[in-house]
Amino acid sequence: MRNKLHKSDAEWRQQLTREQYRVTREKGTEPPFSGDHQVSDEQGIYHCVCCGAALFENEHKFDSGCGWPSFDRPLGKGSVEENFDESHGMRRTEVVCSHCDAHLGHVFPDGPPQTTGQRYCINSVALDFHPDE
Ligand SMILES: [Zn+2]
Repeated sequence: MRNKLHKSDAEWRQQLTREQYRVTREKGTEPPFSGDHQVSDEQGIYHCVCCGAALFENEHKFDSGCGWPSFDRPLGKGSVEENFDESHGMRRTEVVCSHCDAHLGHVFPDGPPQTTGQRYCINSVALDFHPDE
């Protein structure tokens, strides 16, 4: 098992923008249709904005119309972890970066049925996009 990355609150605050910090370290949600990655269909890899781990790729992105970038699966097994989340009076499954525990978004069972049936609904601000060369 890989070692987790641990940083102090002060270190995260220094590294991240206020919005990145709010979403990834305080489990916030960016407003729908506000993110940079929502409509882009460029080919490439999405990395964790906190630790740089590769998390999702454009090939698995689909247009869900929900206002956040949506993927039908993570990049690889073990790149993200899923936690049961009962906050805000809803039963959801939280998705976090398996390397640094950054909050990324939630996964819902209403994705494209022809592929995985899963919808990883991820905050743009939690992702750093690296286009293919
Ligand atoms: Zn991370």
